[in-house]
Amino acid sequence: MIDPDTVIVGAGPAGLACAATLLQRGVQPVILEQADTVGSVWRRHYDRLHLHTDRGHSALPGLPMPRSYPRYPSRAQVVAYLERYAAHFGLRPMFRSKVERVQREGSRWRVDTAGAVSTASVVVIATGWADFPHTPRWPGQEGYRGKIVHSSNYRNPAPHAGERVLVVGFGNSGGEIALDLAEANVDVTMAVRGPVRIVPRDLLGLPILTWAILQQWLPPRVADFLDAPLLRLAVGPTNDLGLQRERKGPLQMIAEDGRIPLLDIGTLARIRDGSIKVRGGIAHFTGDGVTFANNPSERFDTVILATGFRPDLRPLLPDTPDAFDAHGLPRVTGQATGEPGLFFCGQRVVPTGQLREIGIEAARIARLAAEHVRG
Ligand SMILES: Cc1cc2nc3c(=O)[nH]c(=O)nc-3n(C[C@H](O)[C@H](O)[C@H](O)COP(=O)(O)OP(=O)(O)OC[C@H]3O[C@@H](n4cnc5c(N)ncnc54)[C@H](O)[C@@H]3O)c2cc1C
Repeated sequence: MIDPDTVIVGAGPAGLACAATLLQRGVQPVILEQADTVGSVWRRHYDRLHLHTDRGHSALPGLPMPRSYPRYPSRAQVVAYLERYAAHFGLRPMFRSKVERVQREGSRWRVDTAGAVSTASVVVIATGWADFPHTPRWPGQEGYRGKIVHSSNYRNPAPHAGERVLVVGFGNSGGEIALDLAEANVDVTMAVRGPVRIVPRDLLGLPILTWAILQQWLPPRVADFLDAPLLRLAVGPTNDLGLQRERKGPLQMIAEDGRIPLLDIGTLARIRDGSIKVRGGIAHFTGDGVTFANNPSERFDTVILATGFRPDLRPLLPDTPDAFDAHGLPRVTGQATGEPGLFFCGQRVVPTGQLREIGIEAARIARLAAEHVRG
């Protein structure tokens, strides 16, 4: 049994940021990480991934990203940065320590891993979303003879050479994976079920994130109204491409539905030139493909589900149901919860950049946690 003041679960960006900000407040946390490296999720993302948010707004507290990095760093550069971050602050997570249960024990928290039990007065849950891929099912799927993979298992186009591939979903992963396949001359189609929002990654030379940050104090509807003419000009018409435009503006969509618009880095041009085909939602699977809601059946060798993640943390924290909404997402992230000493970091979708938000939340959690530890 070890009894640290503070346990952080997860050594991704959120766990590392919380650890660094706690250290700066004189609290020495123990970090428990199920993998054997820091930033394990970033190591597994698809090869071509670059940050969609700019370097200046994606660094964690206390250490900027290197000036030599481009505006949008690559996946490998993010991994290298996370390693440097851990080294810079002397963070040494306990690897291969999967936390199985976090439960209240008197005024402390009992944290169970397979091999050990610890108790702490503060627990920060920084477990991200990666362990919860959302894999919807359709009628006829069990009879389909092709492959079905979630986007989190996609690496690069090589295994798909010569295939007909269907990418389901029009978020950032779906858009970029379809682009990746099209650039490798793979026959690629996107299944797009409902209306979509597309925004350019840069607007008038500025990262779109900068615009969102500048406008964060405006009501989303007002900011969307102001931005609409410029965005329309930048994106151009899309209805003729089989893409119906979402009625809500991008900021309203994020605020109300937690859905991030597609930050376009070339997908739209590939749809326009026909190298990415667009169809409606899937009605059902056939033996060798799918039937779309608005089209006849087509054959596909592989279906890639870019359908996002649905984290549910209730099994990890079975005794604190009030901390979660009906889907198992924490009601509060980056602030005091109703449970003294329990914090969540990085669980909320924001228009102003997830990594930036993680840094802001970590600083706030460190202050509240340090106060709690000192009683
Ligand atoms: C494809 C993709 C691209 C993204 N691009 C951007 C971007 O450009 N800009 C941006 O701001 N954000 C981006 N994000 C969103 C977000 O910033 C990242 O997902 C970020 O990695 C979240 O950090 P995290 O620490 O919360 O979660 P993760 O990076 O998922 O780290 C969580 C860690 O917790 C560990 N863990 C989980 N469960 C347990 C357990 N029970 N016990 C012990 N350890 C556990 C995991 O192994 C992992 O190491 C992107 C997300 C994805 C999926």
